[in-house]
Amino acid sequence: MTTPPLRLLIHGASGRMGQALLRLAAEHASLQIVAAVTRRSPAQRVVDGVPHFASSELAGAPTFDVAIDFSLPEGFDPILALCVERGAGLVSGTTGISEAQRQALIQAAAGIPLVWASNFSLGVAVLDALVERAAAALAGWNCDIVESHHVHKQDAPSGTALTLGAAAQKGGADPHYASLRAGDIVGEHLVQFTGLGERIELTHRATNRDIFARGALFAATQLAGRAPGSYRVRDLLAGAT
Ligand code: NAD
Repeated sequence: MTTPPLRLLIHGASGRMGQALLRLAAEHASLQIVAAVTRRSPAQRVVDGVPHFASSELAGAPTFDVAIDFSLPEGFDPILALCVERGAGLVSGTTGISEAQRQALIQAAAGIPLVWASNFSLGVAVLDALVERAAAALAGWNCDIVESHHVHKQDAPSGTALTLGAAAQKGGADPHYASLRAGDIVGEHLVQFTGLGERIELTHRATNRDIFARGALFAATQLAGRAPGSYRVRDLLAGAT
């Protein structure tokens, strides 16, 4: 007996991440995009076999197993509410959500499985676990996080640097941050632990934005069928925690 494909709703489908998700999901027979949701009315109702809906039509979207949301904070509440109403999973990478939206996520996790992450790279998920482990083992060492991004990135330190810093703090370190903005760097994070006469450098380099879409698709496949709760990407990666 063959397993039916995982039914996905892509929210924020016309954006850079949404387009990458549509392109990469089409490579997997085990994934079926049942709805691509755009902010405005779509120019075409069906594109490459994928039904398109405007965000105002969200309530009428077909049945889906997991929604993947890469939109903006103003689009976040309706997609979270729809997932709760339908009992579907949610994978969200939308950044800049408010404290009230974070609280709504925590409440929603009582009823549905969800993962929200500021960075869906699987490499960063593993780095997160390594940083926490190193910090716990290296009491008294300095911990510095250096992040480098393209010149258009405005927030500093990056959300990923702060997430890595939280992992270091969980391990007992007191991280300090430095930010570089140069050229077209996609994203680099160096977490450096310095002791007397020795140093450990843990580095992640992103060279292509597709890693975030691939990570989100991976998270969706891992989330389907899980018990309600709030998961981190590293919780979904066997051997990472
Ligand atoms: P983008 O500006 O290219 O796309 C945003 C999309 O959201 C657009 O298609 C827009 O129409 C849609 N949108 C806006 N308001 C909406 C609403 N009310 N309802 C439905 N759709 C709405 O941005 P992007 O580069 O694709 O990034 C999207 C989000 O993902 C941003 O928050 C970005 O910071 C975040 N992001 C996260 C990661 C990660 O790994 N977590 C990686 C890249 C980007």
